[in-house]
Amino acid sequence: MNIDKSKRAGNGLGSKLPNVGTTIFTVMSKLATETDAINLSQGFPGFDCSPELVSLVEHYLRKGFNQYAPMVGVPALREALARKTFDQYNVAYDPDTEITITSGATEAIFAAITAVVRPDHKAGPDEVIVFEPAYDSYVPAIELNGGVPVYVTLTPPDYAIDWQVVRNKITDRTRLILVNTPHNPTGHVWTNDDLDQLAAIVHDRDIWIVSDEVYEHILFDGREHHSLMTHPVLQERTFVIGSFGKTFHITGWKIGYCLAPKELSVEFRKIHQYLTFSTVTPMQYALADYLKEPEHYRQLPDFYQRKRDLFLDGLRGSRFTIEPTEGSFFQTVSYAAITDEPDYDLAVRLTKEIGVASIPVSVFYNQKNDYKILRFCFAKDDAILAEAAERLSKL
Ligand code: PMP
Ligand code: GLN
Repeated sequence: MNIDKSKRAGNGLGSKLPNVGTTIFTVMSKLATETDAINLSQGFPGFDCSPELVSLVEHYLRKGFNQYAPMVGVPALREALARKTFDQYNVAYDPDTEITITSGATEAIFAAITAVVRPDHKAGPDEVIVFEPAYDSYVPAIELNGGVPVYVTLTPPDYAIDWQVVRNKITDRTRLILVNTPHNPTGHVWTNDDLDQLAAIVHDRDIWIVSDEVYEHILFDGREHHSLMTHPVLQERTFVIGSFGKTFHITGWKIGYCLAPKELSVEFRKIHQYLTFSTVTPMQYALADYLKEPEHYRQLPDFYQRKRDLFLDGLRGSRFTIEPTEGSFFQTVSYAAITDEPDYDLAVRLTKEIGVASIPVSVFYNQKNDYKILRFCFAKDDAILAEAAERLSKL
């Protein structure tokens, strides 16, 4: 039978995300592999996780923990997370009703946004305040749920929030505010004053918050992580999202979680149960054991600060302008003194010509604002970081 391909049903599908292509992380990592470049683009550790963690997984695999986990996550992991959260932030979440294990923070962010954002609230779509540059999964999740992103633009070098601008953007349709601290891609970290400012805006309004805190353990120069859960006004309306990927060098396992008051968790779980139902079983048991030793995450700031400083020392003689990052495992640099090329073009050219891949920060802005900034991931072996810095210094 001859099939006329132009008449295939797929041609009429259209797109629910017409402006979305392949993510910059996939594009740059692929280019780095093709050109054999040092890959400081996509954010993932270039070293392995602890052998102890691998042994624990092996143990649970062999013991036959290979069927579906409970929908909300294995009890031992939720209990371990409740203890850790209380030790660290002095906030109690009930492991049975307020903690849900997800397949990565990405799933948790999608589920939380889906639980909150409605297309037809108050005679129009819900509005969601998004600080940009913004991690790439936020806006598609808002749009798929019929919401409208309302941008608050943060600019280099410090990406500080002008709270008057935020206040001006609040309307009676504002339903959700998305927070990310420590921030990807800029490394900016919220202060207690930021929490107070946000609380003053939301305390008497029906506004909820999704707080992406996947880099909660990676802060530098003695800074502390100010989780939104530590502010009572914010805690009662916030879905706090975390990820074991960043904390234990296991981004490939895709295990994250959501901490939220019971009423919020009820709605969150309704979405989670039909997105993935449950999350990979033996890894959850292994993480429950591994979490019992706080040193496993308490050493992260020193571990990553040394890497940040090694990379920055290597760049000292270069023509990049550098503000040391406050948190996360990303360092942004300005190349305005070197060239006025668009940041995307420069990121591609540096990958091909000097063999160092990075992420152009304009991709995290809705209007692709180009402030001539590149993002480098320094979660790599020391020798790789030194070699990358040497190549970049020759520019
Ligand atoms: N939020 C931010 C800010 C991230 O940087 C990432 C991943 N790098 C995620 C969410 C997604 O985390 P996960 O891999 O656990 O889905
Ligand atoms: N979050 C990682 C980054 O910012 C990438 C995750 C992904 O590839 N989706 O680079």
